[in-house]
Amino acid sequence: YAKSAGKNNFQFYTKAMNAKAMERMELENALHRAVRQTQFELHYQPILDSRSGAMVGVEALVRWQHPERGLVLPDAFINIAEESGTIKVLGAWVLRRACQQLVTWERHHQRVGRLAVNISARQFVEGHILQTLRDVVDRTGVDPTHLELELTESALMQDHRYSVEVLEAIKSLGVRVAIDDFGSGYSSLNYLKKFPIDAIKIDQAFVKGLPSQEDKRIIQAIIALAHSLGLKVVAEGVETSLQLECVRALGCEEVQGFLLGKPVPAQQFAAQAVL
Ligand code: C2E
Ligand code: MG
Ligand code: MG
Ligand code: MG
Repeated sequence: YAKSAGKNNFQFYTKAMNAKAMERMELENALHRAVRQTQFELHYQPILDSRSGAMVGVEALVRWQHPERGLVLPDAFINIAEESGTIKVLGAWVLRRACQQLVTWERHHQRVGRLAVNISARQFVEGHILQTLRDVVDRTGVDPTHLELELTESALMQDHRYSVEVLEAIKSLGVRVAIDDFGSGYSSLNYLKKFPIDAIKIDQAFVKGLPSQEDKRIIQAIIALAHSLGLKVVAEGVETSLQLECVRALGCEEVQGFLLGKPVPAQQFAAQAVL
């Protein structure tokens, strides 16, 4: 009896696992196809100076225009693209597309400030990021000093020596570097002084918690640390004016969030921005 129950259980699990594995494989294949057919588009969200309210930059955020499912947000596919390696091609496309857009804006005298592009861990570690970057700069004619790469702690932590080397090469092109989602991952504070970075973006979770005392103190500590190392601080995920007041009072230079502007397609972004 026990044996057959166990067997049923086993069958149950394999069935569930198969379904999950199948779903995942389908998603992987669909993603691969999507990259070939360029079913992606970029949305842009403004980054503002916390004091003057002036737009100082825009972050490019990828969306998948799925033929059946409609607009799919990155949380539903970036991890899979990362694990399957598709991120290398997708990431290169994102960088090129975003730079083309910046060049177009600038050509039309629409000043959006710097362009921030997310780079995944795998893209940084094995995606020939330097070669891609140089190639994109050559092909689009984008001014590299108007460009910022957003990297995560986990990308930089994998191989310190490699990270320092690549970051220095990126910096020598004039491209800025920011650490995204700071405080959410496994961080060794020691690397902050070793890595040539320009800014950190405080993880949204801390901003969400405002005005709680705990989150205030954490943000305060992050800002003190950043400033003592000469880094700028961006607060992400600002949704209320109270949160905006808080991060401004704490000394955050820049802010980003739904309160100040949601990610929108380039067309809408240009129309929205007061330039
Ligand atoms: P992220 O780089 O930290 O980007 C910020 C995310 O927070 C975006 O979500 C943005 O829409 C959202 N957000 C901004 N302000 C607010 C707010 O006030 N409230 C809330 N609740 N959310 C806000 P999105 O576009 O869904 O992207 C999620 C993540 O996917 C990004 O987080 C980034 O890690 C990744 N991602 C997006 N585009 C790319 C890309 O082109 N390449 C790579 N490698 N990753 C990307
Ligand atoms: Mg980002
Ligand atoms: Mg972030
Ligand atoms: Mg994130």
